[in-house]
Amino acid sequence: MSDLEQTLSIIKPDAVERNLENEIKTIFQKNGFKIKNEKKLKLEKSEAEQFYKVHETKPFYSDLCEYLSSGPVIVMILEKENAVKSNRDLMGATDPSKAEEGTLRKLFGKSIDKNSVHGSDSLENAQKEIDFFFKN
Ligand code: UDP
Ligand code: MG
Repeated sequence: MSDLEQTLSIIKPDAVERNLENEIKTIFQKNGFKIKNEKKLKLEKSEAEQFYKVHETKPFYSDLCEYLSSGPVIVMILEKENAVKSNRDLMGATDPSKAEEGTLRKLFGKSIDKNSVHGSDSLENAQKEIDFFFKN
């Protein structure tokens, strides 16, 4: 049994800066994801802090928010059966050096912080993150 789900994906600044947007979108589409909505934007640091609030106690929080707001990002609503897990699988491990062959982070990630893509980690967070970017 599987359900059609939506998840939130972000192409992070390190990937946008290297013009990887189209290549990454093509990989999503080849893997059965439909891009239901998308926009390019640049976050304020305060917005990145809100987005990554679950990590506020982590030592990397400030650098992470600085980085996510350092340049344009592409945010996308991706739709597929089991989209949340399917996207996490396609992204690979947080640390690109530990990510499996063929995953987005293995292909494009530069380091554990500049790892090219974000993907929601649960259906509940996917809805919150979609609302964060796309609810008026
Ligand atoms: N991150 C970092 N250092 C770490 C762990 C995470 O800079 O030691 C960054 C990295 O960009 C990661 C983001 O913080 O994608 C969120 O961390 P999380 O553990 O949620 O990883 P993800 O869900 O993105 O795989
Ligand atoms: Mg996460």
